[in-house]
Amino acid sequence: MKKILFNSPSVVGKELEYIEDVIKERKISGNGKYTKQTQLWFEERYNFRKCLLTTSCTDALEMAAILINIQPGDEVILPSYTFVSTANAFIMRGAKLIFIDSSPYHPGLDEKLLEGLITDKTKAIVVVHYAGVACNMPYIMNLANEKNIYVIEDAAQAIDSFYVNQDGSRIPLGSFGHLAALSFHETKNLNSGEGGMLIINHEPFMKRAEVIWEKGTNRSSFFRGEVDKYGWVDIGSSFLPSELNAAFLYAQLEKITDIQSKRLELWNRYYENLIKKGVDKLVRLPFLPFYATNNAHMFYLVLDELSTRTRLIHLLKSHNILSVFHYISLSTSDFIKYQHPESYKICNFSDYYTDCLLRLPLYYEMTFEDVDRISDIICEFAKEK
Ligand SMILES: *Cc1c(COP(=O)(O)O)cnc(C)c1O
Repeated sequence: MKKILFNSPSVVGKELEYIEDVIKERKISGNGKYTKQTQLWFEERYNFRKCLLTTSCTDALEMAAILINIQPGDEVILPSYTFVSTANAFIMRGAKLIFIDSSPYHPGLDEKLLEGLITDKTKAIVVVHYAGVACNMPYIMNLANEKNIYVIEDAAQAIDSFYVNQDGSRIPLGSFGHLAALSFHETKNLNSGEGGMLIINHEPFMKRAEVIWEKGTNRSSFFRGEVDKYGWVDIGSSFLPSELNAAFLYAQLEKITDIQSKRLELWNRYYENLIKKGVDKLVRLPFLPFYATNNAHMFYLVLDELSTRTRLIHLLKSHNILSVFHYISLSTSDFIKYQHPESYKICNFSDYYTDCLLRLPLYYEMTFEDVDRISDIICEFAKEK
């Protein structure tokens, strides 16, 4: 029985050629040709104001926390159902985390709960476009602007995904918030092993972002000839990746249409297989609000309870197929419970996805036969249950 992995990072074109070029040119540290091309590619394709390539999405979020000047006691609203990096970046700078629950319909945050969580200490709302599915951004931006609160998009999973207006026009995720962060970790649609990007849409952050990125120096201004010497002007860290990573990533960008359409075909195949056999009556399939596009980052099921999910994981495993669950509600994690009890909170829907959501294999090199095999097993399972 052929083994089906949960994920396998795609290698799609000229990755090796560009890495060789970097080695030949002997410009291997960061902010060289490939970094600049990559940043420009995003700025032009998605109309992002300014992009800075980072070593990870985690780093981009840490830069965001510095840029909005988080001070101890500031409150930051964020989902309980997310990856730890969404939270770490802000708690590291002394923020008090205010957790928000997921929607009953999908794992993304329930924006109707937002207003009730805002206080005069709220500094920022961090939204996560779970599975690349847009949060209700116009609603969230209106609320935030009214109350003078920053919005940061954790768009780690949301490359090439959009919010759709009523007239059908599409706005790229990552262009709503004052700041946004993408990930190029090997589990994401496009990857460079480890990698990320900070998107800066808010003009007043642009200069400082570059300084923080360059370890707190004005090195970038110096190389542009804007200042005659470079020195230490702010806090910062080593946030920029090597040209080797940027070269790998740039080769992936050139193939984005291929990657996205292949992923979408696989995703649709799962969906159609399962709908055709009536599995959607027994197991919840991914839900997309009418205003969201699908970037096929993830195909997940929501089972009725933890024991059902555990049985399905074992069944798939017995067929040599790997499936995974993720995100244990941050709001009741040991770290929060013991070290930040002020943020402890039960989030019922977040807990529900923690227990019941299962991610199925989805990656560029998968085949339709793989998807069909997995779908058949799920159909059998759902009917016997
Ligand atoms: C993957 C992911 C991250 C972290 O990305 P890295 O590039 O690995 O740091 C953060 N938030 C979410 C929602 C993610 O899915």
